[in-house]
Amino acid sequence: MSAAGTVLVINSGSSSIKYQLLDPRSGVVLAAGLVEKIGEGEAQVKHTAGAETTRQTREIADHEAGLRVVLELFGQIGPDLSGAGIVAVGHRVVQGGRRYSAPVLIDQAVEQEIERLSPVAPLHNPPNLAGIRVARELLPDVPHVAVFDTAFFHDLPTAAATYALNKEVAEAHRIRRYGAHGTSHQYVSEQVSATLGREDLRQIVLHLGNGCSASAVVGGRAVDTSMGLTPLEGLVMGTRTGDIDPAVTFHLVRNAGLSMAEIDDLYNKQSGLKGLGGHNDMRVIEELAEQGEPDASLALDVYVHRLRKYVGAYAAVMGGLDALAFSAGVGENSPIVRRRALHGLEFLGVALDEDRNEAVQRDGSIQVISAEGSEVTVLVVPTNEELSIAQQALAVI
Ligand code: AMP
Repeated sequence: MSAAGTVLVINSGSSSIKYQLLDPRSGVVLAAGLVEKIGEGEAQVKHTAGAETTRQTREIADHEAGLRVVLELFGQIGPDLSGAGIVAVGHRVVQGGRRYSAPVLIDQAVEQEIERLSPVAPLHNPPNLAGIRVARELLPDVPHVAVFDTAFFHDLPTAAATYALNKEVAEAHRIRRYGAHGTSHQYVSEQVSATLGREDLRQIVLHLGNGCSASAVVGGRAVDTSMGLTPLEGLVMGTRTGDIDPAVTFHLVRNAGLSMAEIDDLYNKQSGLKGLGGHNDMRVIEELAEQGEPDASLALDVYVHRLRKYVGAYAAVMGGLDALAFSAGVGENSPIVRRRALHGLEFLGVALDEDRNEAVQRDGSIQVISAEGSEVTVLVVPTNEELSIAQQALAVI
């Protein structure tokens, strides 16, 4: 176990803090944990160091208290942070706007810029920033680095990044497609290139977790992505609508009397698989659909239909396809979604090997699931955003 050169990665969400202490060179994780339900009364804490996992339920009022608990757990259970050789703290930040195309060392000015971008990421940047401020205060002697979820999409072609919205309004309010999950899309697309030994690939990356997004990547550069101004646009997700006619919002305001806050909650937290099928967990949806439960069946149908549309659209955007990668919780673990997403796409050069698809091992390795001779190589690539954040943080310092 390395005692020098570790990075603490912090992902501070609206009511949670996820963290990992890892060695960015070897990828070895020394400790990992999660504080959930911050500010909701009974918070849940889980800290794993080596083979030992500790769970607690306690009141945690805010992110400062949450991070103090995390540091306390490192002190009590280990590894001892003062001896862990931390060289940087890497923070996940969802929105980096037009300014940040790469990770950046955090100072007062960077904090202010993240705050300035909060109106375009109201659910994400404020908790990200809260985590940064507390972590800098509690760990003042190490450099803190912000790694932006939008960075990989910073240079999207203008035609892909621009909404057909009135120009003055869009400019005044910085409305454009920024994308999200960029750290994962970059990491996965690099893994695909390395695996196939080719830099010039036209790839589609499908990051299918609780949040879902697709990207089209040509020669390592993102040319389109499904998330937009915020992570709400695009694919059907665990609890988010993905693409929806904006006029639904007018309709709900005018005819259902809903407020903006209620619609925000509806689209982000009460829709997607959960809104259609009653559960945001794909395992449950698949099981119910298998039993013939109609709502779950429809949820799965809508989810897969949207995926297939994006695959077709991105193949058209790139003028062809060389590789397609499935990643994140659903992408790495669901043979059903992978099979249904690619069914009948032989006209695009995609030939799935059904046996390989069913036999994918969950051992962290990259696996090819296309048939011998398939023009498009289909892969399952475990994403590792924490490792990528740690490596990027290390590169900055
Ligand atoms: P993530 O956000 O990447 O952690 O993905 C979490 C989601 O992955 C869960 O909510 C599940 O819907 C999904 N998932 C995990 N394991 C499986 C599985 N074996 N089959 C289908 N979906 C799964």
